[in-house]
Amino acid sequence: MIDLKRMEVWFVTGSQQLYGPETLKQVAAHSREIAGALDAASAIPVKVLFKPTVKTPEEVFALCQRANQSSGCIGLVTWCHTFSPSKMWINGFKILQKPILHLHTQYNRSIPWSSIDMDFMNLNQSAHGDREHGFIMSRMRLNRKVVVGFWQDADVQDQIGAWCRAAAAWNDWQGARFARFGDNMREVAVTEGDKVAAQMQFGYSVNGYGLGDLVKYVNAATDAQINSLLNEYEASYRLPSTLRRNPPLRVAIREAARIEIGLRKFLKAGGFKGFTTTFEDLHGLAQLPGLPVQRLMAEGYGFGAEGDWKTCALVRAMKVMASGLKGGTSFMEDYTYHLDSKGMKVLGAHMLEICPSIAKGKPSLEVHPLGIGGKADPARLVFDTPPGPGLNASMMDMGNRFRLLVNEVEVVPPEEPLPKLPVARALWIPKPNLPVAATAWIYAGGAHHTGFSQAVTTEMIEDFATMAGVELLVIDEDTNIRAFRQELKWNDTYYGLCNGFIS
Ligand code: MN
Repeated sequence: MIDLKRMEVWFVTGSQQLYGPETLKQVAAHSREIAGALDAASAIPVKVLFKPTVKTPEEVFALCQRANQSSGCIGLVTWCHTFSPSKMWINGFKILQKPILHLHTQYNRSIPWSSIDMDFMNLNQSAHGDREHGFIMSRMRLNRKVVVGFWQDADVQDQIGAWCRAAAAWNDWQGARFARFGDNMREVAVTEGDKVAAQMQFGYSVNGYGLGDLVKYVNAATDAQINSLLNEYEASYRLPSTLRRNPPLRVAIREAARIEIGLRKFLKAGGFKGFTTTFEDLHGLAQLPGLPVQRLMAEGYGFGAEGDWKTCALVRAMKVMASGLKGGTSFMEDYTYHLDSKGMKVLGAHMLEICPSIAKGKPSLEVHPLGIGGKADPARLVFDTPPGPGLNASMMDMGNRFRLLVNEVEVVPPEEPLPKLPVARALWIPKPNLPVAATAWIYAGGAHHTGFSQAVTTEMIEDFATMAGVELLVIDEDTNIRAFRQELKWNDTYYGLCNGFIS
């Protein structure tokens, strides 16, 4: 569903006319070689296209116009092999609507000590050419990523790759549609927010649909479609033997399959990239969608429970960033704590809706009662999450701005099996530890819903926040509460000056 290879970044080299055709020919050849190497790099998940060197204000402007118009172009990588006077970039940058990565590299890795002469010096000038290039972006307050190092080195390619993933997610948000079935869980604050402001800043739209609109699709599912999906369930999941013998449980799974077929059809028909549900508004559905939501998330759809459209959009963006990487991405909720002083942990889960992309091994398909919502027992996949590094990300509407919050975590195995817990779950130790992480999270107003991922990195989220121009707070190994609280105050002042204060 999410194919990053269809997207492209343009590799643009800045120069000027005064070097003459010989030098400019070399500049072009070297740039083509670098673009080709980045295109072939396994760390870079999108196409990298070489573009002819820009040497005049008109060429820069025309290039930026073309980048804006190109649906395949998700961003520009710029570099100045030679000196490129930056006033010639102003008019182009003024209209550019795509993200920029400024690659500060040099064609030659090493100084050729015994042979270096002024010809070499005139060709390999990025050490000062890129500073002129950087100045104009700072002068224009342009959000961008700066990556420094030799273009063949893995750490440089990794940083470019992370930015490409963020740019792909950013591109995916532009014009994206998210469907909200019913409204918000009543009285909940953090899942609310300004959908108009979100569309203006992030490019996606969120609109509500009545449950009846969905139920029409659900009721149209045929027996043949349902049977075929049941076969797929049998092949993909562990089904307890009691389930095979128990007709009411089989009915519950048939109902889940019916909902899945209807939901998928509804989402495809409307071109949606994600959706929200709420257990307070299920009229016409036999059960709260659990298994269907889990499976649609695994296909790449964003999801937020209880009407949480911000988390839905964020999960979708994280799914795009994670495409093709090892490790899954899911809607998540901090559910229960283990406050043992020998090792404090968070048990993350939800009522049902955790994505099986984070499952350790084959998930178990089960049916259990749900004490909330007053509906029939819903089907769900139950599993643990493999140990290793991960993160939780959360988006809040602070009134005068959106705030993105990240906490890096280490997923750990459960200390003992959890035979009576009928939902999918992940157990983690937040960085730097639970008390500091939760203190910082709560001071930041962080939501209880998050996008959880074992594939997306803080760097990708950071690049994404830069593209979106959104506040980002990171809770990691280095977080210090006193400094973090100051950061919150400074950010209030900064964004207050930029966007206006709201009391
Ligand atoms: Mn919830």
